[in-house]
Amino acid sequence: MSRRREHDPSNRAWIRRLRPLITEHEEFLRERLSSVYATAWPERAIRTDVVFHANWAGAYATLYPTRITIAGSAPDQPAAEGLETLFHEASHALIGTIRGAISARARSPGRLLPRKTLWHAVLFYSTGEIVRRRIPGYTPYASSHGLWERARPDHLDVLEAAWKPYLEGGRELDAAIEALVDGLAVEARGRRRKPSMIPSVANQVANRPIPTGCVQATKSS
Ligand SMILES: [Zn+2]
Repeated sequence: MSRRREHDPSNRAWIRRLRPLITEHEEFLRERLSSVYATAWPERAIRTDVVFHANWAGAYATLYPTRITIAGSAPDQPAAEGLETLFHEASHALIGTIRGAISARARSPGRLLPRKTLWHAVLFYSTGEIVRRRIPGYTPYASSHGLWERARPDHLDVLEAAWKPYLEGGRELDAAIEALVDGLAVEARGRRRKPSMIPSVANQVANRPIPTGCVQATKSS
């Protein structure tokens, strides 16, 4: 049997498991994520390939145009987690505005952040939190898989204090970005390890597909 035939049943089973959740929540999530990330949803449908093995992370997105590849080979994965993964990857198409604002805020002389990819932490937190509030009892991927403790121990408290009010409608986007960057930059001064300057966003606007290096499965970036 070819690999394609061998893998096809599990890929299709993943789609069957996810389809009811997608049907129920897609419109809400599209509107909510577009609003939170201050970016219109892509006009064209986002092609998503469900495959047996996506990459080391289990899922990734390429941009311009947005295309998602996601592994359907984890039958024990809760369907709601699959939903978060799917919309996490779609969120990569929306995060550019937030990413640029973080970069601009952090670019002042002498300002340092403990990690280069704060925008990805914002994406993990925001999309996970939005799915959590939509589906009672759901624990977002980053929390259920220990991502915060393992990879970003100083991030969750700052996200809760600085970013959560924005998600709840109690703070403007600019103020949330300021509070977020300022909160982490201040903490960065006390770290022993030399922190990294936040990178330019130039590579995000290049007109070519960009693998996002997502961290869904086992590692963080
Ligand atoms: Zn990601």
